[in-house]
Amino acid sequence: MEHIMIKIKNYKGFFRILSIAKNEMDRRELVANCLDFLFITENDATIYPDQIKLTNEMSEVIELNKYNSFDVIEVWENGLVSRKYNDKSDDNYFFITGSCNSNCIMCPSPDFSRKNSKAVPLQELIELARHIPKDTPHLTITGGEPFMIGDRIFTFIEYLKTFFLNTEFLFLTNGRIFSIPRYVKLFSECAPAYSVVAIPIHGSCSKIHDAITRSSGSFNQTKFGITQLLRNNIAVELRLVTNKMNIDDFEKIAELIINDFSTVAYVSIIAMEMTGNARLNYKDVWIPYRETFQKIETAILKLLKAGIEVKLYNFPLCTISSSYWSISKQSISYEKIRYSNKCKKCKVKTECGGIFSGTKDLEESELEAII
Ligand code: SF4
Repeated sequence: MEHIMIKIKNYKGFFRILSIAKNEMDRRELVANCLDFLFITENDATIYPDQIKLTNEMSEVIELNKYNSFDVIEVWENGLVSRKYNDKSDDNYFFITGSCNSNCIMCPSPDFSRKNSKAVPLQELIELARHIPKDTPHLTITGGEPFMIGDRIFTFIEYLKTFFLNTEFLFLTNGRIFSIPRYVKLFSECAPAYSVVAIPIHGSCSKIHDAITRSSGSFNQTKFGITQLLRNNIAVELRLVTNKMNIDDFEKIAELIINDFSTVAYVSIIAMEMTGNARLNYKDVWIPYRETFQKIETAILKLLKAGIEVKLYNFPLCTISSSYWSISKQSISYEKIRYSNKCKKCKVKTECGGIFSGTKDLEESELEAII
């Protein structure tokens, strides 16, 4: 989701969450739903129901007009406006907290955000959800580790269940919390109908998994958590993030999944984004995408042969064999996608997800236009 941050010079109000209306019909719908909103015309932008002029400064109005009707924005006391929901995107998410109980060596977030992040207040999450159109197809719940906020998260999840009846929810978690039976029970009771819990497995054994999460006991907790979720008929996506420390273990990870977790919804194999911890620990974790693909191909075939769906994320198409393009997803967020000069003459550029902005310097020499 592209955030589009805008600074309004003369805003003197308080923090607030607003929907966007750009025409009379949308404005009427927001009024009928009792939502605070920003009405944007070609000449100005006004906050309703208060009828406060946010701006008539032309440069600011032009920027605000990049938003769509039914987008949701936050306006901060300092005049910073940030988009929290893009009605034209299926890549929207709720960020719960940057804190995490693991500290993965290849995490694309830096240590600082994990140690110093404050949780978003529950009321703010609910207010944001209240503004989001209830027919939105997909929403992700993410962090950090979103379940670090404890039981409070279930009040929020229950709200989602009550109001988003047809939306698909993806919960990104390290899964450790689900080794506690009470949390599995609470989640089973509160989760919206179309929920998937996405959990990473970093190795086939504690030695490798815990070395990557740098958290002793995390493998056993994650494994038990996955087992409990599956037993309770909760859809689970398993995520395998490729890196130098686990790349030679992929066949064993595939065997673990086939033997113990064969009922997972699907397995996602994810190429690294080289920012945050990953960049800091570059020497320990980086392995070029082409080499990565060669090393994981047998594991992919094993999973497919066992009837387990596999998806590939973040791999530029030219770094993998064309017979796997059909399982490769365009997964990089809009604002992080980069292409190289070589891509200009590539005939599959529109199908290719490109490369992460934070990985381009390491991977650019590997790219090769398909002609
Ligand atoms: S050359 Fe560029 S557009 Fe073509 S497959 Fe590679 S990364 Fe994608």
